[in-house]
Amino acid sequence: MAAPSRPPATSRALPAFVPATAAAEPASGLNVAVLGSTGSIGTSTLEVLAGSAGRFRPHLLAAHSSVAAILEQAHQCRPAWVVVTDPAAAATIGTGALPVGTRLAVGPEALDELVADPAIDRVVSAIVGAAGLRSTLAALEAGKTVALANKETLVMAGPLVMRLAAARGATLLPVDSEHSAIHQALRSGTSDEVVRIILTASGGPFRTRSRESLQTVTREEALRHPTWSMGPKITIDSATMMNKALELIEARWLFGCPAEKLAVVVHPQSVVHSLVEFIDGSVMAQMGPPDMKLPIQYALSYPARHDGPARRLDFTQGLRLDFEPPDPVRFPALRLGHEAAARGGSCGAVLNAANEEAVRGFLAGEIRFTDIADMCSRVLDEHAYQADPSLDDIRRLDVWARQEVVKWARV
Ligand code: NAD
Ligand code: MG
Repeated sequence: MAAPSRPPATSRALPAFVPATAAAEPASGLNVAVLGSTGSIGTSTLEVLAGSAGRFRPHLLAAHSSVAAILEQAHQCRPAWVVVTDPAAAATIGTGALPVGTRLAVGPEALDELVADPAIDRVVSAIVGAAGLRSTLAALEAGKTVALANKETLVMAGPLVMRLAAARGATLLPVDSEHSAIHQALRSGTSDEVVRIILTASGGPFRTRSRESLQTVTREEALRHPTWSMGPKITIDSATMMNKALELIEARWLFGCPAEKLAVVVHPQSVVHSLVEFIDGSVMAQMGPPDMKLPIQYALSYPARHDGPARRLDFTQGLRLDFEPPDPVRFPALRLGHEAAARGGSCGAVLNAANEEAVRGFLAGEIRFTDIADMCSRVLDEHAYQADPSLDDIRRLDVWARQEVVKWARV
């Protein structure tokens, strides 16, 4: 971690690992590009924009193949652009289907080009999985302020992404609720005063299940998250706790925090979104209901705060907060996260790709729930480690890791 000098008491200076201040909001409101607008984060983002009293307006919406949903969104919020990255899906859009004033672009290349449009002030990166990397890189390349939900970007290519952001004067602000909480808590001190960053985990639907019984869980059971409503991929990741593994790696690069200072605690209520422990023993927590609208809005409005549509905590109803240590035996994915955060290099890209393919296999009924972490562990162990992989290396390893999972799934 970089060791910044202590700011004077009156200064508003922030620790080095809190991303730089985003550009001030112009009086007329900011144009926002929402990548993955039809997903769970995408639809919550549109609610935040609609409730922002004109501070933010949707300029570009992008989705892969959910044409009916994106057309409905386009009629509701009249963006300048709609991008559909799947050409076959885009071909089903008839003439006159879009509102007057909204233009259609097709394919991932068109999206890469359009996110660089100088008219765009903020980019919300909420495409799911490795597919979200290229448009996030394109936005950073263009020096944009990116509200990052797509954690896979940092898991796969953290050092490269952070170097690119610094070189292009771009700003990355976390949307992931844990990282948003950490970002907020870090504003209480300097980086040399931080002794531990503690990510909270709900524990998912199987928090109290035995290792044996986990072998037979069904797709439906795994998709039933107790506290958060999210897309299917991240919901399975929460059930295996691979989501927390990916978030450890995300925190490692986003905050420039050494892996040994990162920890996980299970907190079933999902009210404390993460914690930062300082050298004097003070622990700063950020709290709120499990509602992604708050971290989305914070990433858009930072460094300011304003009123918005996120739910509020109601202390008149009584509030219970429990914390317990995670169980690495029942949730072996956690160890993989700590290992990949510590080793760095190509580990994140390989772990992410193996997990994406294994989750796809589990959702398709091809492998068991417990196979997901086992397969990821094997692929991670057997890959040809690279300390500082290029983007091409990362793409090659991503393909290799997926193939390995498919191969083992057939055995
Ligand atoms: P989701 O499955 O609900 O939505 C995914 C979106 O990505 C859709 O709009 C879809 O059209 C688009 N998409 C899918 N494949 C694509 C492709 N190949 N090219 C372009 N677009 C594509 O997912 P989600 O739950 O909203 O998660 C989105 C991202 O945010 C993930 O990286 C996830 O880890 C992260 N995240 C989500 C939550 C949450 O509460 N849902 C919380 C923290 C982080
Ligand atoms: Mg999270």
